Amino acid sequence: MLRNLLVLTAALCASAFAQANKSVLLITDAEGVAGICRQEQTEPTNPELQKLLSNEINAAVRGFQRAGATEIVVWDGHDGSRTLSALTINAPAKLVIGALGPRMLMERGFSAVAFIGQHARANRERAVMAHSYSSLGIQKLLMNGKEVGEIETRAALAGWFKAPVILLTGDRAATDDLRAIVPQAVTVSVKEGVGYYACISDNAATAATNIEAGAYEAWGKLSQIPPYRIDGPVEIIQESTTRSTPSPDAVLPSGVERIGPRTTRFRGKDFLETWTLWAGR
Ligand SMILES: [Zn+2]
Repeated sequence: MLRNLLVLTAALCASAFAQANKSVLLITDAEGVAGICRQEQTEPTNPELQKLLSNEINAAVRGFQRAGATEIVVWDGHDGSRTLSALTINAPAKLVIGALGPRMLMERGFSAVAFIGQHARANRERAVMAHSYSSLGIQKLLMNGKEVGEIETRAALAGWFKAPVILLTGDRAATDDLRAIVPQAVTVSVKEGVGYYACISDNAATAATNIEAGAYEAWGKLSQIPPYRIDGPVEIIQESTTRSTPSPDAVLPSGVERIGPRTTRFRGKDFLETWTLWAGR
């Protein structure tokens, strides 16, 4: 009887928390923004990028707020966190500026995560400026044998903390990358890659309209979108670019080993352990 009561109380608390905590973390990037197609456009201080990205973020903020999100947190995730300004992000959004640790604030228990302006992983075709974390440093990234980039690894991180990725906006290849692992998620393609530096892009107004509608829809589907979870031991293999060839004399922590002149393997008992090793490299 007492045990049943405790279980019931715990369940009520959990549902009260879920209702009270209507928060979404927006992870932003540059290469998947409508109208961004050339490398020099991705310079964080480029006013055109700042305007285009802010426009897309504010569209998502409107959609999420209209649908019922009460806390909207935007992380300036592109190149040194220097693109966004609190002057141009609309209420009620909060802006996170700066580098984040391996957990990326996810331990705060967001209800959901969204990607805005996201590019596809490295080595994808017809994908605008596709890369995995660093086009200068990383040639290829594998997680449990599958090629991955920011989308798959950060979705797994969110999933570890029970948050589903409910929305991704970016080029068509990036939307395909998310739907391959979370078919229930809402995706908004704002441009089609026709080459690494070539695209057919929506105009900014159309992109904003579609992103606002996508955010609204995604929040409504929140309970139907499962967190992306990877169970069991996880292995991440990073192949560096030639210009970032690691030193053969580097002293590596336990769980990390060199398996080739440019290839390093990270292994842990579960996703978070391996991820923490890789993110702290
Ligand atoms: Zn990126």
